[in-house]
Amino acid sequence: MSQNIQTFTSDEPIVRYKNITKSFGEHTVLKELDLDILPGEKVALIGPSGSGKTTIARLLMTLESPTSGTIEVDGEMLWHMHKRGRLISANEKHLHRVRSKIGMVFQHFNLFPHMTILRNVTEALIHVLKIPKAEANHRALEILERVGLRDHTNHYPSQLSGGQKQRVAIARALVMQPRIMLFDEVTSALDPELVGEVLDVIKAIASEGDMTMILITHEMDFARDVADRIIFTDGGVIVEQGTPAELFENPKSARLQSFLSRFM
Ligand code: ADP
Repeated sequence: MSQNIQTFTSDEPIVRYKNITKSFGEHTVLKELDLDILPGEKVALIGPSGSGKTTIARLLMTLESPTSGTIEVDGEMLWHMHKRGRLISANEKHLHRVRSKIGMVFQHFNLFPHMTILRNVTEALIHVLKIPKAEANHRALEILERVGLRDHTNHYPSQLSGGQKQRVAIARALVMQPRIMLFDEVTSALDPELVGEVLDVIKAIASEGDMTMILITHEMDFARDVADRIIFTDGGVIVEQGTPAELFENPKSARLQSFLSRFM
């Protein structure tokens, strides 16, 4: 068990996927998935490309809706089933509240190119959360310090390296103080020499303990270091899950053994 396990604050999951199936047309990408994530838990999703990892994340962000099944965040249902089994979107206000509990960082940073780093980080605080500018700047500077970019606040994204841009994207998500952070292959668009600085920032956030983190990654050493639990998906199902030691040192299924052998 890793060091983060003692920081779990309750046995009630903060995220609960229940019997989730997701199809795109004829193609079923998730099959009857059940997954509970505890508050403060660090979960790494690993698996081959196309195994449904990003879909798991997008469902949580309500960027996709399930074909069947339910998802709860912090005890609140993301969608409601109609009597005849039809899915009803929760109203906008409700979705907004649930989304505000989740921060997401993607492979592509999507910073606003015409705004300084500071403004990229304060934009949502000021315009979505309506926090006064001085307070927003204060919070942003604190976070930019944590990701090692305090000296770049007045620069524009084009003046930064890929690793620095990704750290801004992390700061922008963190500043909203989400309860859950989702990191979806955040280093896969980076030059190899820039990967370490981004992973180090994520490790530092993880070591602070409280935040629930879901990490989709192809960096196995990173997953081993950060995660309390590794989940291996293949073909739209969870094939195996357990502690890093269980999965990496004693993979049971042939599919996981074959997947891991590619990283040796
Ligand atoms: P992973 O993150 O493990 O690579 P994804 O969740 O991105 O897997 O994708 C799972 C499968 O779902 C892939 O075959 C992908 O092509 C398909 N898929 C994902 N999003 C869509 C979509 N919007 N429309 C059609 N197919 C999709």
